[in-house]
Amino acid sequence: MNAEDITTVKSILSQPQKIAIIPHKNPDGDAMGSCLALYGFLKGMGQTAHVIAPNDYPKFLKWMPENDSVINFERENPKAGRLLEEATVIFTLDFNDLSRVGQMETALKAATADFIMIDHHQQPGDYAKVTYSDVTMSSTCEMVYNFIQYLGETDAITKDIATNLYTGIMTDTGSFKYRSTSSKTHRVVAELIDRGAENMEIHRQVFDTNSPSRLHLLGVALSNMVILPEYRTAYITLTQEELDAYDYKKGDTEGFVNYGLTLEGIIFALIFIENKEEGIIKISLRSTGDFSVNEFARNHFDGGGHTNAAGGRSELGMEETISRFNDILKTYKNELNP
Ligand code: 5GP
Ligand code: MN
Repeated sequence: MNAEDITTVKSILSQPQKIAIIPHKNPDGDAMGSCLALYGFLKGMGQTAHVIAPNDYPKFLKWMPENDSVINFERENPKAGRLLEEATVIFTLDFNDLSRVGQMETALKAATADFIMIDHHQQPGDYAKVTYSDVTMSSTCEMVYNFIQYLGETDAITKDIATNLYTGIMTDTGSFKYRSTSSKTHRVVAELIDRGAENMEIHRQVFDTNSPSRLHLLGVALSNMVILPEYRTAYITLTQEELDAYDYKKGDTEGFVNYGLTLEGIIFALIFIENKEEGIIKISLRSTGDFSVNEFARNHFDGGGHTNAAGGRSELGMEETISRFNDILKTYKNELNP
């Protein structure tokens, strides 16, 4: 954030505001962690704030401090709509374009509030009064820490705020191992531990609360994996039928896509997950090195994200989607074998 933006934010927050804080649709640990941390911080300043999530999110995030205050736009629509209408400031966290909030997009576009974006995705949109965008950042949570630091308020970071920030940094960095994890990230994390974040307990809550059906679904996913060594690619499919057979709950497939990348020589991994209700195949894409899944998802599957982690969708059936993917992949043979 530049000096001018810091002055603007300080001036906005020096007045009482009605604040809405918005994560992207299907929020992950970084989206919820950053929103809940900012919520705790603004509340501590005496501001009126609400976190409004576009839709539901996985159980493994619902233990997070302040989670009970979250308003679900889908389930509590009139209330959420009213809060967005009345808001004087809207923070959008962990996304780069208003289309990333699903059904909430219309309400956000109609809002009269000043927007403040904090985000680390590529190609940020141009809708905010203050845009704090930095694609080199490990996570939006690391940026919320910086944001608080820019305001000169790190002493206001409570144990709850530290816990929420730690959770998002941990989940978005694959437990501090992705390329975007810098020495600065580790310094921030150390500070969060000093401020009360219980690292082992947070890890346990997020990763060690599996259900038996989720592990069995992982077994199905792994046996469905198709490995294409000539393209250094591995992909997984999961049909709605397979999800239903293993009592699928939101978040159960989180992390499955990463298994492809653990294969020696594989640099591009995908998972195609059927969602009959929405009539789409949701695609998660991951890579290691310079192959940009952001570009791949953006150019072919109506999506985007980061160089090494992106999402997209297909409105064709599973078989047609896979066949289209295989055709597209052929045109990337050289890029995948540099
Ligand atoms: P995931 O595969 O975990 O859903 O998403 C991976 C990354 O890509 C996340 O940073 C997420 O925010 C982003 N992402 C997921 N789906 C989409 C999408 O449809 N459009 C864009 N622009 N980004 C996405
Ligand atoms: Mn993120």
